[in-house]
Amino acid sequence: MRVLIIEDDFDIAGNLCDFLENRGHAADLASDGVNGLHMAVSREFDAVVLDLGLPGMDGLSLCRKLRREARRDVPILVLTARDTLDDKLAAFASGADDYLVKPFALREVEARLNALFARRCGRVIDNRLVFGCVEFDPVSMLVAVEGRPVRLSRKCLRLLETLMRVPNRVHSRGELESTVWGDEQPMSDTLRSHMHILRRALTDSRGHSPIETVHGIGYRFSHSDARPA
Ligand code: CA
Repeated sequence: MRVLIIEDDFDIAGNLCDFLENRGHAADLASDGVNGLHMAVSREFDAVVLDLGLPGMDGLSLCRKLRREARRDVPILVLTARDTLDDKLAAFASGADDYLVKPFALREVEARLNALFARRCGRVIDNRLVFGCVEFDPVSMLVAVEGRPVRLSRKCLRLLETLMRVPNRVHSRGELESTVWGDEQPMSDTLRSHMHILRRALTDSRGHSPIETVHGIGYRFSHSDARPA
């Protein structure tokens, strides 16, 4: 997904930007409120990470202007050192969608952005991930293709969940292996054979499967319901 980071702390902004880009997202930076608002209004983003204490225009004013004047509904994650209940309520009243207090874990920022993005795409229904004819319920671990239940091993389910949570993004082999197998490095062909099983299991009645191999890099869950990440 394409993320706008509005943050005047150079170190925090740089860390966030590097982390998100390493994870396959695109990140743009604005270091003051006026520039941040201008970028948020003039370009398309899938999510905004917003600091509150900013030069030029503070984050709450920016949030209100973006919602009420520019009528933009881009998801906004507030990232701030302000941790009182009143601060949080003021941010939500100004139009923020989520709120994270500094210091924060980079992975949590990404998880929250993914969740906001998924809701916006309308692909989370009762907490199920739904794309075209493929449905996946991460709680019950039930998968269906064209309404037909599909049985998958635990590892295949984990692979599918990882791919479906950020569709259309290429997940590298190393990333998928460490997500599913952790420290126990799988044999060299293990991931490929699991992906083969997954691709076949998700093939619909027209012979199409959403699992794509990106040669030399990895795999992606491809579907036109989702915009490119
Ligand atoms: Ca600041």
